[in-house]
Amino acid sequence: METRTVYFIEGDGIGPEVWAAGRPVLDAAVAKAFGGQKKLEWKEILAGKKAFDQTGNYLPDATMETLKSADLAFKGPLETPVGGGFRSLNVTLRQVLDLYACIRPIRYFQGIESPVKRPDLVDMVVFRENTEDVYAGIEWASGTPEAKKLIAFLRDELGKNVDETAGIGIKPMTPAGSKRLVRKAIRFALDQNKPSVTMAHKGNIMKYTEGAFRAWGYEMAKAEFAAEVMTEEEAKAGAKKRLILNDRIADAMFQNVLMYPEQYSVIATPNLNGDYLSDALAAQVGGLGLAPGVNMSERLAFFEPTHGTAPSIAGKDMANPGSLVLSGAMLLEHIGWHDAAKLIHKAVEKVLSGKQVTVDLAGQIPGSTQVGCKKFGELL
Ligand code: NAD
Repeated sequence: METRTVYFIEGDGIGPEVWAAGRPVLDAAVAKAFGGQKKLEWKEILAGKKAFDQTGNYLPDATMETLKSADLAFKGPLETPVGGGFRSLNVTLRQVLDLYACIRPIRYFQGIESPVKRPDLVDMVVFRENTEDVYAGIEWASGTPEAKKLIAFLRDELGKNVDETAGIGIKPMTPAGSKRLVRKAIRFALDQNKPSVTMAHKGNIMKYTEGAFRAWGYEMAKAEFAAEVMTEEEAKAGAKKRLILNDRIADAMFQNVLMYPEQYSVIATPNLNGDYLSDALAAQVGGLGLAPGVNMSERLAFFEPTHGTAPSIAGKDMANPGSLVLSGAMLLEHIGWHDAAKLIHKAVEKVLSGKQVTVDLAGQIPGSTQVGCKKFGELL
């Protein structure tokens, strides 16, 4: 019997319900795919409200210690506690564990009404940088001494025309941070035999951050993947390599992913673009209830449904466990248990075509009837 240990955090709000409905689906898929020869061993670690109730701490040291040496973990959604002493549990986890890549596959399931004409062509994976950019939180409010000092510097030293009432924000992006994200996207694309990696950036406006992201991406690919990766120009000139690395300005890219989704496969992008892009793409294929994700460091793959705690439906048996189940399928793919992951995708396709779905999908699947979270999990 081969077992893989997965540390899991149940999560707040709808977390316990989607766990209870979704986890048996993952275990059943593994058992069926491998005839009982492989097994996921789930070990609970505490975070969020459950942790606070049991230990007086929202993010206990024991949890962080476990995660620091783990390679596989899974979490439900966590509410940001008011007055918890940190900005957000999720942000803290990302920063402390250096989970620098947020990876979200966007894939269409037949039968869902989509705002785009050819949703069946949507098959993309977004690699969003998770630690830099405007999320580094370097900001000063209008009228503060720091903002005034910076404005004086910008006006007096650099001759920039900045109003003295301006709030000021700065975005840092580094060569190392950009390169490791593009590197991860390229490795994934090569592993999965994808045709291209597209860097989405606003380099025409922000030359030394987003423009540099693009340049660093190409530089790294040339240095580290010369045998496998070619640019668009090289491909046009007749080069034959496994993967194309290209780039697009983010606003044009937004239009294009909606109009010509077939042109995109793996997308590597800085933090803010990735935030917008992954939510907009998820909306094309069924929304949050079917959007899986993972945050990764060099060692840890930390899977999570991308939705939050959905407080208004928590405890009402209304949540869709699909995002959690599909995040589980990503975990199975990540550890190479592909047959089990395939069973999960097939099960989701079958249940959606049977038109018994949770409330969030009922409006998007004509002729469907509504079922609860528990029942939806049983159908899967
Ligand atoms: P949310 O994702 O919880 O809810 C947005 C909307 O989607 C709501 O209408 C909700 O009912 C619906 N929804 C979400 N998941 C659903 C599901 N599985 N099935 C059916 N409907 C679903 O986002 P929010 O309201 O902005 O945030 C609520 C709380 O969750 C906040 O405390 C926020 O900090 C937290 N949050 C946590 C994470 C995370 O842990 N990764 C992510 C986002 C938000």
